[in-house]
Amino acid sequence: IQPIRNEHGVVENFIAIESDITARVETENALRRAKTEADSASRAKSEFLASMSHEIRTPMNGVIGMTSLLMNSSLNEEQRDSVNTIRASGEALLGIINDLLDFSKVESGKLELEHSPFDLGTCIEETLDLFAGQAAARRIEVASFIDPEVPAVVIGDVNRIRQVLANLINNAVKFTPAGTVSVTVGVVAVAENHPPLCVNHCILSIAVRDSGIGIPTESIDRLFKPFSQVDASTTRKYGGTGLGLAICQRLCTLMGGRIGVTSELNRGSTFTFTVQVEPTDAGFTAPSLPKGLSQGPVLCVDDNPVNLDRLTAFFRSHRVNVLPAANAAVAAALLEQHHPVAAVLDLELVEIPGNPPIHEAIVAAGIPIVGLLNNTGAPAPAWTAQARFASVPRPVRNVVLTRALHALFSTNPPVPALSPAPEPPALATLIPLRILLVEDNPVNQRVALRLLARLGYQADAVADGREAIIAVGEHPYQLVFMDLQMPEMDGFEAARHIRKHQPAHLQPCIIALTANALQADRDECLAAGMNDFITKPIKLGDVDEVIRRNFTRDTPVG
Ligand code: ADP
Repeated sequence: IQPIRNEHGVVENFIAIESDITARVETENALRRAKTEADSASRAKSEFLASMSHEIRTPMNGVIGMTSLLMNSSLNEEQRDSVNTIRASGEALLGIINDLLDFSKVESGKLELEHSPFDLGTCIEETLDLFAGQAAARRIEVASFIDPEVPAVVIGDVNRIRQVLANLINNAVKFTPAGTVSVTVGVVAVAENHPPLCVNHCILSIAVRDSGIGIPTESIDRLFKPFSQVDASTTRKYGGTGLGLAICQRLCTLMGGRIGVTSELNRGSTFTFTVQVEPTDAGFTAPSLPKGLSQGPVLCVDDNPVNLDRLTAFFRSHRVNVLPAANAAVAAALLEQHHPVAAVLDLELVEIPGNPPIHEAIVAAGIPIVGLLNNTGAPAPAWTAQARFASVPRPVRNVVLTRALHALFSTNPPVPALSPAPEPPALATLIPLRILLVEDNPVNQRVALRLLARLGYQADAVADGREAIIAVGEHPYQLVFMDLQMPEMDGFEAARHIRKHQPAHLQPCIIALTANALQADRDECLAAGMNDFITKPIKLGDVDEVIRRNFTRDTPVG
């Protein structure tokens, strides 16, 4: 509206323009309604997927639990084979359902990240270790290298980083018929596209490289879309849901990073992802190496460049001089000029015909040897009996390497007889138990099951308190490892329920898996009726100790 004034400034008239916007407002309202409806429909779909996956998982766990009961009964060869197939199929199905559940959790915005300190090296080593058997069986070499600049301990979500890494390594091993798979970790200066998640942030860049079948350029765009696979026929050959990378991408975005890939057909692929973490000085000092090494140097012989780098970095981080050798000829030349105090030797390289027999020179010089064995369960070669020798399976883990070096340099080594000592009997033969693991994170679950398997236990696993109650009602478990924070029903409530409703003679021992070691947490565990607790991330030694502590042979639980 525009006023019109006369020469005295008095309003005499006005001009008004009218336009009817009813239609526009109505359209706007309709659009807004449609968007709200679409959003809630999409959320409802994700929530439906989440609850369906949950519903399917419960009976699946029943199926898998029953197979382990059957496995322990007397069966003939054919029956055992069938039960094995049921168990394997059940576990494959459960894997798919877990993928769906995870995907829908991220999509419906229900995924919250954890924020606690963890040791990055251990996280990488443990994740690689999950695939060691699978890789060794196909003669694929796996190795990892962490740049010395990377902080040893960081604050972030260890489970989600492990999940992304496990998915990439799984693909790398799956799509590599022969060759190598390596993981390298470094820091990068700037986040692309992403504002820092915290003030004191640091961006990790983790690369998984394989020498496998590669990915055609035109398919790369599709990779991170849900339910897509490069070639529908690969589904038959390799299995999978095509959800893994879509989940990885969403997780990386949540963690303030991104994921990308470069690939060359028939040459291999490199998937690289970044995540933001916060460096911290908290705890975890690496155990020191034996004193005898400090005079150095240590000869390291490995033709896998990533592994040679990691060995070199490992010794340098302990201020021990290193002589790296990428092949036997270099090693032989180095041996002529130096007298190493120890040698780390790739045992496969020694066996390659035509290579100089450097192991003979090393043994003759009386140099203690750590032999890197492929994880196939094959024994060390016969010549090692003549040396001070300890073996370390691939992929090399710092703790295992440190332990082997200590065994070699212990004060009174029986020279020359550090050949493999007879394995002590597995804990499971001393203390046989039926064990249930309750843990919602699938990767954590695999790690824990693997640790238990090392002790000789074939445990069953479920993913939340509600499933745990059902499982305990159906099978006579003697020991339950109980995660505390879980969807549906948490560990405290599940423990209270089991204590209240389970008949006295079928009460299991319940050990809590707590994220932190606060006294208040422990008190709450005991108040909920649990017997003991160990802190996450769980370690082999802790599991062994807690089982021994709670089950001595003459006091069976009940
Ligand atoms: P899936 O569970 O089916 O493996 P992913 O999302 O993890 O789902 O992978 C999707 C597809 O990407 C795979 O089916 C495969 O075709 C391709 N792919 C992923 N990683 C690799 C790799 N390292 N080498 C070759 N192809 C790969």
